[in-house]
Formats: sequence, C-alpha cells, structure tokens
Amino acid sequence: MTASPSAPAIVWFRQDLRLADNPALHAALKSGRPILPVYILDNITPGEWKMGAASHWWLHHSLEALAKSLKAIGLPLILKRGESGSVMNTLVKESGAGAVYWNRCYEPYATVRDATIKENLRADDIAAESYNASLLVEPWEVENAQGNHFKVFTPFWRRAVEQLLEREMKTFPYPTKANAPATLPTSDVLDEWKLLPTQPNWAEGFAHWTPGEKGAEQALLAFTDSAIRYYRVERDFPAQESTSRLSPHLHFGEISPRLIWKHVYHQLDAERIKPADAQKFLSEVGWREFSYSLLYHFPALPQKPFQEKFAAFPWEKNDKALLAWQRGMTGYPIVDAGMRELWQTGWMHNRVRMIVASFLTKHLLLPWQEGAKWFWDTLLDADLANNSASWQWVAGSGADAAPYFRIFNPILQGEKFDEKGEYIRRFVPELKNMPKEYIHAPWKAPEWILKQAKVVIGKDYPAPIVNHEMARDRALEAYKNIK
Ligand SMILES: Cc1cc2nc3c(=O)[nH]c(=O)nc-3n(C[C@H](O)[C@H](O)[C@H](O)COP(=O)(O)OP(=O)(O)OC[C@H]3O[C@@H](n4cnc5c(N)ncnc54)[C@H](O)[C@@H]3O)c2cc1C
Repeated sequence: MTASPSAPAIVWFRQDLRLADNPALHAALKSGRPILPVYILDNITPGEWKMGAASHWWLHHSLEALAKSLKAIGLPLILKRGESGSVMNTLVKESGAGAVYWNRCYEPYATVRDATIKENLRADDIAAESYNASLLVEPWEVENAQGNHFKVFTPFWRRAVEQLLEREMKTFPYPTKANAPATLPTSDVLDEWKLLPTQPNWAEGFAHWTPGEKGAEQALLAFTDSAIRYYRVERDFPAQESTSRLSPHLHFGEISPRLIWKHVYHQLDAERIKPADAQKFLSEVGWREFSYSLLYHFPALPQKPFQEKFAAFPWEKNDKALLAWQRGMTGYPIVDAGMRELWQTGWMHNRVRMIVASFLTKHLLLPWQEGAKWFWDTLLDADLANNSASWQWVAGSGADAAPYFRIFNPILQGEKFDEKGEYIRRFVPELKNMPKEYIHAPWKAPEWILKQAKVVIGKDYPAPIVNHEMARDRALEAYKNIK
C-alpha cells in the first residue's frame, strides 16, 4: 500500500550539508509532504574508511551550521548514530515516512549501501529517490568514443566541459520556508557524539576555518574577488594564500560545484576575471571530477594500484621512518613544514602534498597506502576519491600518473617554491633564523652559520633521515624490478 501523501518525507543529509542547490531537499519540498531532515553518523558501513579525527571536527561544526540554517526555515535536524540501513529502517517506521530523498555519494561502500536501502524502501512502497548534488558530471556521463571511461585527465575534462557547455546548468534556489511533521522522532545530542577533541585539544590551530554553508560561500567570494587573478602563477607557492581553500567545504557538500561553476562564469561575463584564470581554476575542480570518475570505475582505487604492474613494487616497511615523516621530523625542511602544516591546520598546500607524498613513496620507499591513511585521519578535506587518486598519481601507480622516475628533489623544490623560506619558517620555527641560502638544506650550512642561527643539527633539528642521492638511486633501482 502506498503511504499517504501527507506522510513525511525524510531528507537524508550526507555529503551535502547545505540548503542551496540541494536537489534532495528540493524534491522533498516539491512533494508537499512535511519534511524530516536527518543526519546519520555511520562509522560502521565505511569500514576502514570511516571518518578520520580531523573530519570529525569539521563535521561537528558543519552539522551545527546546518541545524541553524534548517531551523531558520522551520525544520529540525534529527541526528542518529549507527549502521545507516537499520537506522533508516527504524526512522521510517517511527516517523511513518512516505518518502526518502538523498543526494548520491560515490564511495564504493556508499553505492552498495544506498542501492540496498533504496531497494528495501521501494519494496515497502516508500518512495526513494537519489540525486546528483556534488559533481558537475556524474562518473557514468563522460565517455570516450568507444563508450569507456577516460583514464587520462585532459580528454576527460575536455569532453566534460563540452557537455557542460551544451546543457543548461540547473541549480535549485535556497528554500525560504518548509513544514516539519507534527511529531518528531527523538534526536541524539550533537555534543554527546564527542566529535571534538578535548584532552589534548589538538584542533586549536583549526580555528581560522568556518565550516558550514556560509563559510563556503565566503571562501568562494573571497577567492574570486582577488586570488583567482593570480592563481595560475601563484598557486604553487605555499607561503601565499593563493588557492581557494574550498576543499573541505566541497568534501562536505557545503557548496555545490554547479554554483561554483556558475559564479565563475558570472564573473567572467562581467569581465571581472580573465578566461585563462577561470579555466585554470575550473580545471582543478575538474581534477576532483576525474578522481570521482576513477573511484567509481575502479572501486579498489583506495587499496590497489590502478596500474597492475605496481602490485609487484618492492615497498619497504620502516615504522621509524614513517613516524618521522608523520611528525615532520625527516630533516628535509620543506617536507617537515608540510607535515606540520597538516597537523596544525588540518590542511596542506597542494604543491607540498606532492612533495611529501613523493618523499614518502620514493625517498623512503614506503607504500602510498600508508601516506593516504595518515592524510585520511589528519586532513579536514579527507576525501576518498581525491586522496586515493592523488596518492596514486604521485606514487606513479595511478591513472594519468606522474611517471615513477620523476623523483622530486626536496631541496630544489623548496628553493623553487619557497625561495625565501617563509613557509618553512612558519611551520618549522627552529629554523627561523637560518639564512635563505641554507634553509632548504641546513645540514650543509657552515658551523658559524648554524651557530648564528642557534641550530645544532641532530639536536634542535634532525639530520636528514635519508641521503637524497642514495634514495633517488635506490628508488630507480626498485622501479626497474617492475618495468
Ligand atoms: C597526496 C595528495 C593527497 C590529496 N588528498 C586530497 C584529499 O583527501 N581531499 C581533497 O579534496 N584533495 C586532495 N588532494 C588534492 C589537492 O591537494 C587539494 O584538493 C587542494 O590542495 C585543496 O586546496 P584548495 O581548495 O585551496 O584548492 P584549489 O587549488 O583552490 O582548487 C579548487 C578545488 O579543486 C579541487 N582540486 C584541486 N586540486 C585537485 C587535485 N589535484 N585533485 C583533486 N581535486 C583537486 C579541490 O576540490 C579544491 O578544493 C590531494 C593531493 C595530493 C598530492
């Protein structure tokens, strides 16, 4: 028997923690049913990819912001914890819901989970519909002439842009008013989920972030008002704030990529930005789309090398080296600055992500999966598609990857992208008095310079845990085994 038209519609929020351009919420509004917004904290279904500690911090604040926005239009946010399928089952019964709407997730565990939930709901005559809220193009939409998914970014993005320009970019307005059901199911109390760290509070350095839809909008506006004009040239320099810092907002769905695209085009039409700047920025957003396509078509991406030959790569096991890398104590200042930026702020500049990932997989010969796991726990923007695809890209095992033999020299990378050592001084304060000539390789500095800078190598700052030339040769030798 089909549920009555006045039975509530559940809107299941997941990675779409916003009201603007939210197709599931829009569908619920259109249905005319009273609306019951729900968030389920499910740390069971994702298995080893359950949310990391930094993401929990973001989630707490983002849910607070979402609850506030919903309240302003007349809706509560019901919080539940547990395995999504069984929580949803109970909720539907408890609330007498006649429909459940959600926006799609693309992680392998999520697609399986959602398909089962949809099937079960429909078997019980409950309407169940899912929508695209988080991608410009869904993974199955962009195909090459042979009908296969792309394994190389440039043709993928070219085709995606062609399709996007052909269609109307439809977005849904921010709702102004909605009706809640007369009786509500019980809700967990957010604070009782204990998503925030207390003793110690390692998240003090996260305070400059503003999780939530408003914070996302501010970040976009601030970026397109100014930094986007320098982005093409300056996006590689970690001391400057020249990128958008939209990544955690995008991961949690606090902003829709369609609204980003539209806003950038609007700025372009108004001649506030140049086409080349807009294209460069949107192509980076395109890398996110590409990563999602890869994860969808190759669900083992987080675990297994995309290029099969890398399964035979002779990775090492070295807990001491892994710990030095995690702590930012490798003795290579640009690597250590990056790892400490990550720990202190929950984010790391893209150029430095590439440098530290190259260092882990090539200088230390440690498996990229170890690095991806650490990033998963410490990044505020930890995202299964982007993280897995990017780690494999740097390690050389990914689709359209940097060739393995391209081994970053951490000294030259530092000299090139942090010439004056400003970024290093910010995150590795023990080197703050080192002159720029020696800040990228302090162990090479003459004794008197070290003395003047008050640095004793091996005491105040570590000696390099591995010799660059030796590590480079060792990595190339290891690579020969799988060629
Ligand atoms: C080893 C490694 C791991 C990474 N892990 C993640 C991760 O877990 N989550 C994540 O969002 N990004 C990840 N990235 C990609 C990239 O570093 C970040 O998206 C970017 O630094 C975020 O800063 P931003 O928002 O200022 O980027 P901007 O330069 O302003 O770019 C705008 C948006 O485009 C997307 N984007 C930009 N670069 C990339 C890229 N190379 N791949 C995929 N999407 C991109 C992001 O959503 C970003 O917010 C990783 C990169 C590397 C090398």
